[in-house]
Amino acid sequence: MAKAQDHDVLIAGAGIVGASVAWHLAEAGLKVAVADATGPAAAASGASDGAVSVASKKPGVMARLATGSLLYTRELAARGLLGPAYAARPSYVFGAGEDEMAAIDALIAKLAALAGPVRVCADGGPKLLPGAGAGIERLVVLAGEGHMPGHKAVRAYLAHPRITPLWPARINAFAADDSGVEVDLGGKPLRVGVLVAALGTSTPALFPWLPVLPRAGQLIVTDAGPVGALPGSLTAAAYLLAKTEGPGREALPPVVIDPLGTGQFLIGSSREEHADPTRVDFATLRHLLARAAAAYPALTERRVIRAFAGIRAAVSDGLPIVGPMPGSPRVIVATGFEGDGICLSALIGREVAGMVRGASPGAEWAADIAALAPARFDPARQECVA
Ligand SMILES: Cc1cc2nc3c(=O)[nH]c(=O)nc-3n(C[C@H](O)[C@H](O)[C@H](O)COP(=O)(O)OP(=O)(O)OC[C@H]3O[C@@H](n4cnc5c(N)ncnc54)[C@H](O)[C@@H]3O)c2cc1C
Repeated sequence: MAKAQDHDVLIAGAGIVGASVAWHLAEAGLKVAVADATGPAAAASGASDGAVSVASKKPGVMARLATGSLLYTRELAARGLLGPAYAARPSYVFGAGEDEMAAIDALIAKLAALAGPVRVCADGGPKLLPGAGAGIERLVVLAGEGHMPGHKAVRAYLAHPRITPLWPARINAFAADDSGVEVDLGGKPLRVGVLVAALGTSTPALFPWLPVLPRAGQLIVTDAGPVGALPGSLTAAAYLLAKTEGPGREALPPVVIDPLGTGQFLIGSSREEHADPTRVDFATLRHLLARAAAAYPALTERRVIRAFAGIRAAVSDGLPIVGPMPGSPRVIVATGFEGDGICLSALIGREVAGMVRGASPGAEWAADIAALAPARFDPARQECVA
């Protein structure tokens, strides 16, 4: 006889990915609980920028998934769910020097090949943006992207009345059998039908063979100026290089300037191979700020009021890990979104909820979602290959 279940599904991790999965399952009528060791948006989702950007994604799987997620995020915003969190805005990508010019050319080619909702409106010099500085040689204006602070989206998703909040409570261990999963939640046993682990950088604590590595990023917040002075994000092409070729390949600071709805600016971000959210240093901040001010001199009139670090969950092969664990179909992981989790969260939440309910991904996404399967790191499979 099947054992009684406390919940149909337990989501471990109340970041944006876990929150989106939970909302989609609750909408489908399932009894869902969300546990977090600290609380909603306690880790990367609450310490990040919120670019919902196709431009910054690697061509291929990531750019296609980002395109789908951008369209679906817009739909959820139009339906009211993400309305308070998501805002459409233009994106500006700027460059100076040979490497950044080549990165901008590659960006234009990528967007043309995708033929999606993000398009190049203008390609020229600093005159395209009022207030642009001498640090900009070439500027591309993009339409179609948006911005969504992670903490706002998490709050919106978790407000669903069918979601049971269980925090603070840490998942210490789990054991899956044919009919469900036994979970040690803060020392107390819980039985659920399916466990979805959306644990970000903490993934290896429960799944030691998944190669999820911490990658820190420092961010700066300024005081408020006139709202709307900079109409959209201003991104150095070096940032595109850092994301497509790996950190450290870019010669110039990979700065992103994001105007917030408050009139403040969020300026980021570094890529550092450590997991310490308390590590913020003047050399890195100065490096980012100098390039930001050269690109947009009005920033010199703002004061820095805060600097902090967020920790991204990076995967050794540069792709997130999403899907059932080999041999344990009742345990599904969704992790390793590095600098792309805010953007991808809507589509990934919908697709993981589909997996839980036994639905196949839509034909449009099947191959790209299959490319994210944890089975690619399965030690048993590696032994067979070797
Ligand atoms: C500096 C910086 C800038 C970024 N900018 C962008 C951007 O512009 N656009 C974009 O798309 N993405 C961006 N990102 C990436 C984005 O923030 C992440 O990809 C996303 O937030 C990951 O969400 P998540 O739900 O997977 O993980 P997290 O938000 O890290 O959530 C994991 C949760 O699991 C909980 N947890 C851990 N262990 C346990 C346990 N054992 N039991 C219970 N709970 C546990 C944690 O408390 C945490 O709340 C940025 C990230 C950083 C750091």
